[in-house]
Formats: sequence, structure tokens, C-alpha cells
Amino acid sequence: MPALKVPKREAESVKRKLKKMDLYDGKRRPKREGDFVLLPIIEDEKIYSLGYEVLPVELPLRPERQIYKNLESVLAGRLSEDELKHLRRYDVIGDIAIIQIPLELEHRVDDIVWGLRKVHPFLKVIARKGFHEGAFRIRDYSIIWGEERLETVHRENGVEIKVDLSKVFFNPRMKGERYRLAQLIKDGERVLIPFAGVLPYALVIARYKKVKITAVELNRDAYELGLKNIERNRKRLKGEIEFIHGDAFEVLPKLESYDRVISPTPRGIDALALTLSKAEHWLHYYDFVHEDEIWTFRQRIIHECEKLGRECSVRVKKVSDFKPRVFKVCADVELKEK
Ligand code: SAH
Repeated sequence: MPALKVPKREAESVKRKLKKMDLYDGKRRPKREGDFVLLPIIEDEKIYSLGYEVLPVELPLRPERQIYKNLESVLAGRLSEDELKHLRRYDVIGDIAIIQIPLELEHRVDDIVWGLRKVHPFLKVIARKGFHEGAFRIRDYSIIWGEERLETVHRENGVEIKVDLSKVFFNPRMKGERYRLAQLIKDGERVLIPFAGVLPYALVIARYKKVKITAVELNRDAYELGLKNIERNRKRLKGEIEFIHGDAFEVLPKLESYDRVISPTPRGIDALALTLSKAEHWLHYYDFVHEDEIWTFRQRIIHECEKLGRECSVRVKKVSDFKPRVFKVCADVELKEK
């Protein structure tokens, strides 16, 4: 993948432009070179129209991609080229590694366990994962090595998050999103987070900002772990978190409205009208959308705003790939003054 050489003071605006044009390669890291910055870009004719120099340099992968590459290189001597292609990305949550092993690698489970332990010597459990199931989005796991537990403490963005993967949903890949939101939010805001799980968003935001957060979660196990997580991080938190156990569709209508609402919506649930009705200035709405449907998704949000008699501007951002051409996206919705 090539890089675009731009003067340092233009780097931020060019980066934004590249992102808008879907030409920015977020998997790689930009690099400083004197008064210039090399921005990672996607191979496409359009980049030549921007008027900057295009260089054939391979910028380094971001750390999480790098981790995956390490496993690949550790296993290179044991697995064939073809087998290596089937190796999936994996996650490390606390001292547990979670990996999906496709049928093609069924006979290589022992090698994969060996490779993961070599890359991450601190691991205590290795589990293979199935898919998120039911309304609580709990995954089905089977432990293939180590201690018989799926409970651990994950560290991220300066907070400690206790999870039990056999009982609750948790996605470490949203680390960057949580940090992004924490930076957007200003001290003094009132924030509402339905579908809050074990509170990863709430904890990270409260860690950085002096805000009042109300979080809502239906799964009792997630709720109880969330309460423990507030206690566990209490000294680190600048903000306050109020946690309500209940169904967001019943609880939210009884609440006041908030400066900002963050909805890590479970897949298959339409909470757009519900969350929008509680947002005064901002809604960050997560959903799973096919690439070809992003425009329709945006229109749907604008239409919902109109129904509430509000004007809004919407920016939809791809957050992670979910299935081929289907993305987890976040719509940042700014509601204009009434
Ligand atoms: N924000 C968390 C969890 C997101 S998954 C995180 O990012 O880790 C969605 C969460 O919504 C799950 O924890 C699930 O238990 C919860 N949930 C599902 N339906 C709900 C409802 N009707 N009301 C409140 N929470 C619900």
C-alpha cells in the first residue's frame, strides 16, 4: 500500500479528506519525515488527483494488526502457505485469547495454541469462539487450552474491566471508539448509554471527563459486573456513573433527555427512534450496515429526526468489518438547535 507525502501542517486536513474519499488506510500508521508526514493510503487512481507525491512505501501496521502478523510469522514454519491463509484475527481479553478456527485448520489446533502462547507468554486461557447469540449477545466459547474459566480482567484506556465471557458481551476491538468518544465529550456533559454491557464505554469516558453518565443494561450478569467495575475503578474516575438494570425500551421513555446519547445497539435491534428521542445535541448510533445501504441508513436517520421536528447532520463512519461488505458503523448525529 502506498503513502501520500504531505506537509506537516496540512496533514490533518488531508487525512480528513482521504477518509471522506475512503482512501485512507486506517490499518497502517502515518509516519513523520522532517517537515512532512507520510499518510497511509489505499491504492486507487484518485489519489493522483490530489496533487501530492505518492510514494511506494509500506508503512507499519497498527499494533493490533501487528499482533496478528506475529502469530502468522511464528506459525510460518509449521503451517503451509495455504493453511496460513485461513488463520483468522484473534483477540486478547485480559489473560484469555479468543480465536476463531475454521474447518480448514481443525487439524492444526495444537499448533495454533503453541503459536499463541509463544506470542503472548502471559496467557492463561485459550478459547475458540462461536457467534454472538440471543438478545444478550453472548458468544459460545470452548476452551482449548489452559484454565477452565472465561472470567478475566481486561485493561484498556486506563481502566480495568472485569468480564465473564460466558455470561456477557465484550468487544476489545472497540477500544479506539471508546477513546474517540471520550475525546469528543466535554466536561459537564450529561451522557446516556443504553445497552451498556459491563460498562466499557461509561468507564473510559468517566476516566477522562468530568461528566454525569446514566447507563442501562438488561442482562443481570452484565449489570452486576458493571457495578463491580465502577467500584474497581472508582479512584480513577473523574465522572459519575449511574447504572440502571432494565430494558432500555421501558427505562428510556421514563428518563429525561441528555446532551449526548451513545447507543452500542445490539445487532438486529432498532433503537434509533428511542435513542434519538433522548438526545439533545448528539447521538452516536452503532449499527451493522451493508456497504450499499449506508446512504439509505443516513436517510433513515435524517427522516427520524424530521419526525421529531429536529434538523440534524449525520456522518457515518465504518468502525470494523463484520462480514464481507457488511460493516459495523457509527452514525455521529448532530442535532441542531430547536
Ligand atoms: N456496550 C457494551 C455492550 C454492547 S452489546 C460493550 O460495548 O461491551 C449490547 C448489550 O445490550 C448487551 O450487553 C445486551 O445484554 C444489552 N441489551 C440487549 N437488549 C437490551 C435491552 N432491551 N435493554 C437494555 N440492554 C439490552
